[in-house]
Amino acid sequence: MSDKPRILTGDTPTGSLHLGHWVGSVKRRVELQDSHDCYFILANMHAFTTRSDKPQEIRRDSIEIVRDYLAMGIDPAKATIFLQSEVPAIAELCFLFAMLLPFNRVMRNPTLKTEIELKGLGETYSFGFPLYAVGQTADILAFRPVGVPVGEDQVPHLELTREVARRFNQMYCKVDEHAKDEEHVALGGVFPVPRADVGKVGRLVGTDGVNKMSKSLGNAIFISDSPKEVQKKVNRIFTGRQSPTEPGDTGNALFQYVDAFITDEARVAELRDRYSRGDNIGDGHIKAEVAEAINAMLAPMRERRAQYEGRDDLILDILRDGCARANRTAEATLLKAKEAAGLGFWPRTLDLGAVRR
Ligand code: ATP
Ligand code: MG
Repeated sequence: MSDKPRILTGDTPTGSLHLGHWVGSVKRRVELQDSHDCYFILANMHAFTTRSDKPQEIRRDSIEIVRDYLAMGIDPAKATIFLQSEVPAIAELCFLFAMLLPFNRVMRNPTLKTEIELKGLGETYSFGFPLYAVGQTADILAFRPVGVPVGEDQVPHLELTREVARRFNQMYCKVDEHAKDEEHVALGGVFPVPRADVGKVGRLVGTDGVNKMSKSLGNAIFISDSPKEVQKKVNRIFTGRQSPTEPGDTGNALFQYVDAFITDEARVAELRDRYSRGDNIGDGHIKAEVAEAINAMLAPMRERRAQYEGRDDLILDILRDGCARANRTAEATLLKAKEAAGLGFWPRTLDLGAVRR
């Protein structure tokens, strides 16, 4: 096993990946894959929270996300990409962790509340919906990572994870309640208290100019979009500005894109200056530059993606290999956790190969 510091993060297969994923999390993953032992989870069980009636779509999206990962530069020789549903230790830890969290604490999570509202779940969401927030603590802690590269919306979830880690270590590993987060493992805790590693753009707004760019909200520019689609969607970004001579607000949605995707900093400064003064610079002009910058960034991704088009066989091989590696790590954690919690009878006795009759 690797002695590099470990990170874990991932995505729910509710659709293909978009620019929000790139700036919020995946870019950071690509940067870290040489220096860190990386685990990337496809939370396919959690996709059932809102799409339990569409298992085939969840399966298709899981494969599609791996294609996006490969396009964006994640290298399966360096990073472990795996399916949540193939790692049983996660579900077992989820059950144990659910006992450590007050019910009301889970329901107070602001990300859950926003999701219930934005996805119109009303009062009809399943029992499993809030349970996914607990499940996510297990997704993470099963790998005992030090850091979790995520977008801003995930910070409340990560706070829950940090609470579970502390509580477990205090309750079952005799870690003092005043111990600093960084010291938990040195003091005998099973779990490190992982920190959120939020990307430069923690919350990219969608092309509606209002909500977070999200696969579920129809306001996303996808990594797999064609250059034309990118231009069309960028043109839709709403600013409300009327003319090129009207002083514009550089805190608007369009300028979030300028900052996130135009790499020439001098040019960004110039655009900001002229826009805020209304120096004869139209939104249309800026949108054209933004789309060009996004397309330049996506061009090598499109090329890499083409190698995996129609090659689900290669993707399934990557996943099978990743699941095997993920299980090796997660099983070791589960054993430690069970031993600490007085459940350490034997190493796994489940071995279907041993059944003779
Ligand atoms: P869904 O609408 O199904 O919740 P999503 O688009 O929010 O999908 P997730 O799978 O929930 O995507 O999130 C995966 C990761 O990408 C998380 O770390 C999340 O914070 C990050 N992320 C998603 N959207 C954005 C965004 N618009 N800006 C920054 N980070 C984002
Ligand atoms: Mg989300």
